[in-house]
Amino acid sequence: METPKNEKFRDSIGTVTKEGKRAWVFPKKPSGRLYEYRKYVSYVLLIFLFAAPFVKINGNQFLMFNVLERRFNIFGFPFWPQDFHLFVIMMIIGVVFVIFFTVAFGRIFCGWICPQTIFMEMVFRRIEYWIDGDRGKQIRLNKMPWNAEKIRKRVLKWTIFFIISFLIANVFLAYLIGSDRLIQYILDGPFSHLSTLISLLIFTGVFYFIFAWFREQVCIIACPYGRLQGVLLDNKSIVVAYDHKRGEKEVGRAKFKKNEDREASGKGDCIDCFQCVHVCPTGIDIRNGTQLECVNCTACIDACDSIMEAVNLPKGLIRYASEDNIEKKAKFKFTPRLKGYTAVLFILVAVLTGMLFLRNDVEARILRLPGQLYEHKDNNMISNVYTFKLVNKTSAAIEGVRFELLSHKGEVKLVAHDEFVVPPQGLSEGTLFIEINASALTGDKDRVEIGVYSGDRLVETTTAAFLGPRSYK
Ligand code: SF4
Ligand code: SF4
Repeated sequence: METPKNEKFRDSIGTVTKEGKRAWVFPKKPSGRLYEYRKYVSYVLLIFLFAAPFVKINGNQFLMFNVLERRFNIFGFPFWPQDFHLFVIMMIIGVVFVIFFTVAFGRIFCGWICPQTIFMEMVFRRIEYWIDGDRGKQIRLNKMPWNAEKIRKRVLKWTIFFIISFLIANVFLAYLIGSDRLIQYILDGPFSHLSTLISLLIFTGVFYFIFAWFREQVCIIACPYGRLQGVLLDNKSIVVAYDHKRGEKEVGRAKFKKNEDREASGKGDCIDCFQCVHVCPTGIDIRNGTQLECVNCTACIDACDSIMEAVNLPKGLIRYASEDNIEKKAKFKFTPRLKGYTAVLFILVAVLTGMLFLRNDVEARILRLPGQLYEHKDNNMISNVYTFKLVNKTSAAIEGVRFELLSHKGEVKLVAHDEFVVPPQGLSEGTLFIEINASALTGDKDRVEIGVYSGDRLVETTTAAFLGPRSYK
């Protein structure tokens, strides 16, 4: 079946030509109320993004994702492989949160918060406007032969892009390996850590490629979140939308003529000026309806509002609205689906908060040495041998560590020493014996509770199995 004429846009992507080549987008420089708000939001987010790996809470980096050493810090809380369950819950909350938000507010995340949009539209694109000028000048420059002006502008732009990509790659590395280590590497000189330098240059290359060339293609073909829109959005989701009822009316959109009575002629409020198309960074025409390329950047809202103001028509022809709002004038409703997502989100956040606060700074694991039986000693004492592992999740050393038996009367004897120190963000391992008088045992396999002390302070409790002779059951 042939696609209807007004649906043809669905057969192709706005950034690909008929020949299958890349159609470069030269978006007009946005301006307006929402663009100003987006600028402020981007300043806050950029400061956060650049500062987060260098801010410390209780000596812990605020955000760190050291995948190689499996160490993560989230909001200053250090996570070890032992805390993996918390990490998984955080990820689930993140996903539910994004789903909830997308169902309710479409791709608001893409337009206002996504680092790709923030860097592309608020950093790289603004530098481009500064060097190359607005849409018209950019198109002219692109068509120009390689003369002195073009070479100068291109070299300047690409050099600045490379420097910023290098800066982003450094910050990215600070998230990965920790800011302290990054600063140390910088002080040691770039050639003292050649493999890190190579990784840094690879990251720089990737960022440069994305922001200098790949650009909106990330959102259109690479981002999995963008692909999810089709299943998450419904008629009640609020998205950047063209009010086709008002824009088209009975006769359809039509160019603006001075002193005409558009109301009487039945023409829509859209004056077909194409400003919303020219300003779009993904090269689409929002008047065709919600499309997967739209990152909800709001640039078309601002562009159309300024046109409406100029021709004395009410603003909001393109606005944040749901399909139901445009079709049936329905107001935003908190639907059962939204209520369900909110409830799940609240439960998950409550569970996570509880787990975070109940989590111990020290994690102890004491396990009986496999294959070893108990030993009968003098004075009716029964002895079992164990290995222990203590993880210190804090950034301060835990000094004077010793073990005490809490559940039974007996003794814990360390093999190598009486007390020891667990280094900051480190672990200590060793062997110990637990000795209990046979008369104190209730069976041939008792569960014993052991306290981990730092001086006189109980920092963690754990349990282990204790084997004894059957006759004492
Ligand atoms: S900017 Fe507004 S008036 Fe102009 S073409 Fe787009 S929707 Fe129509
Ligand atoms: S259609 Fe509008 S909101 Fe969507 S990407 Fe283009 S300019 Fe941004």
